[in-house]
Amino acid sequence: MILLLTGLVFLAVLGAIVAVAFLPGDPENFKKCQHCNSSVKIESVVCKHCRKDLVELPY
Ligand SMILES: [Zn+2]
Repeated sequence: MILLLTGLVFLAVLGAIVAVAFLPGDPENFKKCQHCNSSVKIESVVCKHCRKDLVELPY
């Protein structure tokens, strides 16, 4: 039983580490342009890099 709990905790910690590793390191007020994959401000409606319209991503 203890072994099972330790395994679950280990998996939770591992999952958190993986989640952090795969998230972009940008501040919260930045999002990624889905056209050119560059970081743009969350308030932007047009990407400053490729000048395409930004569609809100459902988070
Ligand atoms: Zn772009």
